[in-house]
Amino acid sequence: MVLINGNYLKLKAGYLFPEIARRVKAFSDANPEAPIIRLGIGDVTEPLPQACRDAMKTAVDEMGSREGFHGYGPEQGYLWLREAIASHDFQARGCQISAEEIFVSDGSKCDSANILDILGEGNRIAVTDPVYPVYVDSNVMAGRTGDADGAGQYGGLTYLPINAENGFTAQLPSEPVDLIYLCFPNNPTGAVASREQLKGWVDYALAHDALILFDAAYEAFIQDPSLPHSIYEIEGARGCAIEFRSFSKNAGFTGTRCALTVVPRGLMGKDANGEAVELWGLWNRRQCTKFNGVSYIVQRGAEAVYCTEGQAQVKALVAFYMENAAIIRSELSAAGLQVFGGEQAPYVWVKTPAGLDSWGFFDQLLQRAHVVGTPGSGFGAAGEGYFRLSAFNSRANVIEAMGRIQAAIAG
Ligand SMILES: *Cc1c(COP(=O)(O)O)cnc(C)c1O
Repeated sequence: MVLINGNYLKLKAGYLFPEIARRVKAFSDANPEAPIIRLGIGDVTEPLPQACRDAMKTAVDEMGSREGFHGYGPEQGYLWLREAIASHDFQARGCQISAEEIFVSDGSKCDSANILDILGEGNRIAVTDPVYPVYVDSNVMAGRTGDADGAGQYGGLTYLPINAENGFTAQLPSEPVDLIYLCFPNNPTGAVASREQLKGWVDYALAHDALILFDAAYEAFIQDPSLPHSIYEIEGARGCAIEFRSFSKNAGFTGTRCALTVVPRGLMGKDANGEAVELWGLWNRRQCTKFNGVSYIVQRGAEAVYCTEGQAQVKALVAFYMENAAIIRSELSAAGLQVFGGEQAPYVWVKTPAGLDSWGFFDQLLQRAHVVGTPGSGFGAAGEGYFRLSAFNSRANVIEAMGRIQAAIAG
């Protein structure tokens, strides 16, 4: 028989979303008439922007002629898309990021996992707790961790707790680390980092020769104009950070698939002899060998995000979800719950009521309100006692769900 990758056996069984699905199924099998509202998994619900659909339809028609046909495109993405991204998302905010430093891909979930291909074993890795599970599980699969302990924490990882006490932004590591995963605005807590906080991380990384993997998938949801959208808004970040971005949440591309990773030129790692090696060349080589690019049609759809109509439509989408978040925040506060996040991110992080842990609150809301959320403990041990609600839903569903939660808590 073929030998398997034994690292996969270290992954914790009963992973979060399958366990949620199991409990929801058991409940709806027993209560088939209960109208369940899902505010759990972070998928968008509203239609694709008109500008993106128009651009994709035009691209489909182009593909129907010999002159307009496109086969394999550049593995890094078409230059016109990379130039639009560099100009609108980075240069317009004062970040000196060029089109050459942008790698278009079919998702930042896969990029944030695949990046481990170009990083060696033996790096000391820091993740926040709670955390987007992909960062941890991809390290487990790549053999960069030990086994999980009783609390579900893997040996070899440095966990940085994020909680109400530190404003959900984590303290700098007290032990030296080489690789730091940061996600702001944050999934799952909905927290955002200030310029000063990000500067603290960049200064730490530069002083310790560490690399920051910065996930900015939710940057479009930032409302406060003084907050940074990109790690490259911080001086020195080009020398210590890779950034992940996605069209999934701002433009509703979760089912269409387009994202990007920024690897600045001159960002260095070291080889086994301590010689400096540019990461850009390694990632370029990795993508050229293992990836064949995003479809022409989808890249034209993503490009349309940057045209005047596209910008207005994306803004309206984000505003719609953020109004949902504001409703969730105010209705839950009115019900006496303590809420965090939801002001610069589409997630509201709720403290569970006294006497209920994360799964206890999950079961209570499912049974009494028929509302599905996500137990905070599923994102890490320090998420225990919290609960995530997503603003990705119709207005009617959000209002209905909030009314039912208020009734469930009062009752
Ligand atoms: C949704 C999300 C992404 C985007 O993933 P895609 O693969 O681009 O759809 C990235 N990071 C986090 C933390 C997310 O929640």
